[in-house]
Amino acid sequence: MKVPVVCPYCGVGCRLYIEQTPSGYRLDYADDVPGIPNENGSLCPKGNAVLDLLSKDRLRKPLKAKEEGKFVEVSWGEAIKEVAERLREIARDDPNGLMFFGSAKTYNEPNYLVQKLARMLGTNNIDHCARLCHSSTVAGLKAVFGAGAMTNTYRDIERADVIMIWGHNYAETHPVGFRYVIKAKERGARVIVVDPRYTRTAWFSDIFLQLYPGTDIALANGLMHVIIKHGLHDKEFVERRTVGFQELKKTVEKYTPERVEEITGVPAELIEEAAVTFAKAENAVVTWAMGLTQSVHGYDNVRAVATLIAITGHIGKPGNGASPMRGQNNVQGACDLGVLPNVFPGYQAVTDEEKRMFFEEFWGTELSGEVGLTTVEATHEALKGRLKAYYIVGENPVISEANSKNAVKALRRLEFLVVQDIFPTETTRLADIVLPATSMLENEGSLTNTERRVQWSFKAIEPPGEARPDWWIVSEVGKALGFTGSGPKGFNYRSAEDVLREINACTPQYRGITPERLKANLAGIHWPCPSEDHPGTPLLYTERFLTPDGKAHLAAVEHRPPAETPDDEYPLILTTTRYVGHFHTLTMTGRSELLRKRWREPFLEVHPGDARRFGLEDNGWALIETRRGRYAARVKVTKAVKPGVVAIPWHWGANVLTNDVLDPVSKIPDTKACACRVKPV
Ligand code: SF4
Repeated sequence: MKVPVVCPYCGVGCRLYIEQTPSGYRLDYADDVPGIPNENGSLCPKGNAVLDLLSKDRLRKPLKAKEEGKFVEVSWGEAIKEVAERLREIARDDPNGLMFFGSAKTYNEPNYLVQKLARMLGTNNIDHCARLCHSSTVAGLKAVFGAGAMTNTYRDIERADVIMIWGHNYAETHPVGFRYVIKAKERGARVIVVDPRYTRTAWFSDIFLQLYPGTDIALANGLMHVIIKHGLHDKEFVERRTVGFQELKKTVEKYTPERVEEITGVPAELIEEAAVTFAKAENAVVTWAMGLTQSVHGYDNVRAVATLIAITGHIGKPGNGASPMRGQNNVQGACDLGVLPNVFPGYQAVTDEEKRMFFEEFWGTELSGEVGLTTVEATHEALKGRLKAYYIVGENPVISEANSKNAVKALRRLEFLVVQDIFPTETTRLADIVLPATSMLENEGSLTNTERRVQWSFKAIEPPGEARPDWWIVSEVGKALGFTGSGPKGFNYRSAEDVLREINACTPQYRGITPERLKANLAGIHWPCPSEDHPGTPLLYTERFLTPDGKAHLAAVEHRPPAETPDDEYPLILTTTRYVGHFHTLTMTGRSELLRKRWREPFLEVHPGDARRFGLEDNGWALIETRRGRYAARVKVTKAVKPGVVAIPWHWGANVLTNDVLDPVSKIPDTKACACRVKPV
């Protein structure tokens, strides 16, 4: 029997089948499910390598540390008891001594339970990896449009006449999603790419705006300057559906194409051409990812791009909209289900007394109204000795955090670290207790792709050893902590379906997305879905925005340089990238022999002029140094980067170099631009 699952990698959310045969498991393509993102069945290299998750070095038994990195196997009973006792002990003195890290790599149900556990223990210290990738999207889009999510679907990208791809190598990071760009282009659509590197995506562009890292606001303001100067903004839409236009007009007045060229390095005539092309399009979308978001100005970057979309009226109708591309396959769901320090499930603010009272009644316990710590703040607090324990589900902060050496120091300072994962990682090595979880293919649940599409993934494979589903593990910890009340007041669940029904009852956007409906409809349902007879909402803002006054709030923001700019000591700008064959910190794709062989190591991209200047040779080795760390990598001499800019993929640990200074609103670190120097080794 072919079992339908969802790819455990990126936010496109491709479907595939897994079938058990006498000789093992085999993968099959889901080309018979209309409406899914990969309805022709296609998968990228990562999706095709999905069965490599059955790798031999999976975690199979709970582990207890004897010393750092040395473990003994223990029973589930012993492991759960120890976790509960230590968490209870710390919470008794100070609930804010605890920190919880949910996971964009697991289902909605366990994510809901992790945040419920944190909150029932008295703290809002709960976060997940969206903090490091799209927290600025969530905050920025909420400020302008009222909700922090993609406003449209992949089908709208296909219908667009102009697609502006801002700060992401779409063809490599979301390859199956990129086929909608190709389809649009085949129909005659024009593609504008904004990126510091000439990427595989830039190769598809009609207009390529190669900006310096960290100059996005200047470029957005330059585009808006041209649009307003030529009267190409959608006047009727601006008048009827936005506020703040006059202030915006005044702000962008000084961002002439010539001035913007000086800041961004993008020729003035290309800025003119891109602005006119975008504004005149009948239908246009803007897609973006980490090149825009991972910035000390990430919140303002997103607000500036959202404002560009709003003044041209490219939102709220088919073929238009704002399309942030989420990284991991359930990062949208983890945000939706309240794995954030400031909101309960459904983006209901912890500081809103009415919402808090609802959850106090629902969960039957007193809750904190104080906004909790974000991941990077938690690292800083742990370094100061103010955080005592960390419960991490399915993430690897030792590699994924900016200025990652600090993360290691911070985790070592904790009194207690529990890590729940499917493989041994650089982070499980530091744990006191390791809890072996099942992969997504080995248990079932719901997950939400970048288009707000909630899908059900079925259990296709028997888990190895004593690995257990994430929802089961968190429920056991909850019960061991004494949360044994009935219904939502406890953790007595029999299945992931039970948990989703509880989510339906407390999360307005998911109210009608029941397990029964999801199981019967493999294409899933787009939230918001307020009732069981509602079809879901693929396109947002057709009538009004979700801001209190129903209008888009245009943002007038000024360009400011990144937190670090080149100087005599560190004369280059370093930016980070990704490869199509790898994912995140290699915990999963690094186990695939096929992917490892094809994408075997990181290359530092250096412009030929800089290679000569610093004595680097193609395929030779370079030592990269920043104010935070050093990292050696092989060199690729290429004109894909501008003079003065170098780029490196971060999968292998290049975050020892990056800057952990935070955007003041979204608290995302400045990982896309910092000063560095290079020399041959
Ligand atoms: Fe999986 Fe994303 Fe590749 Fe689709 S595009 S197969 S979801 S990694």
